[in-house]
Amino acid sequence: MTNASPDCIFCKIVNNEVPAVKIYENEHVLAFLDIQPVNFGHTLVIPKDHFENVYVIPAEEWCRINLAVQQVALAVKNGADADGVNLIMNNESGAGQVVPHAHIHVIPRYNEDGHKNWDHKTYTDAEQMSEISKKIKDFI
Ligand code: 5GP
Ligand code: ZN
Repeated sequence: MTNASPDCIFCKIVNNEVPAVKIYENEHVLAFLDIQPVNFGHTLVIPKDHFENVYVIPAEEWCRINLAVQQVALAVKNGADADGVNLIMNNESGAGQVVPHAHIHVIPRYNEDGHKNWDHKTYTDAEQMSEISKKIKDFI
């Protein structure tokens, strides 16, 4: 029995109330095909319990998820005959999270698939780098 959230589509997939093409599962973790793939074989790895994002997942659960992600990443790479894989997790709507049940995207990538990776910015100077690093370290 999992800790489900009412109206959560991924909880419904975990509980077999909504169909999904499952790739892997164990007691704590489920992996299934994304219904709108970036490339075919794009897989989502989720905790079976409902946690909204990375900030609130208990450490032990986070470890379990990532052990599964590692296994799924190699399987997706081999199974989709990919040249590489992206592992991506969107946390909060500001980062593009649409489904509020934590999930890691395992995306097969190809040399010529035409998908763009991140745009990059340039630090103006060392002081700017130092300033942001200090602000971040305050929260570690
Ligand atoms: P997010 O933007 O929240 O990081 O990604 C959510 C992902 O879940 C999207 O890539 C979307 O295609 C996928 N998705 C949304 N609803 C469903 C569903 O009902 N079934 C499956 N298999 N994938 C879904
Ligand atoms: Zn959920």
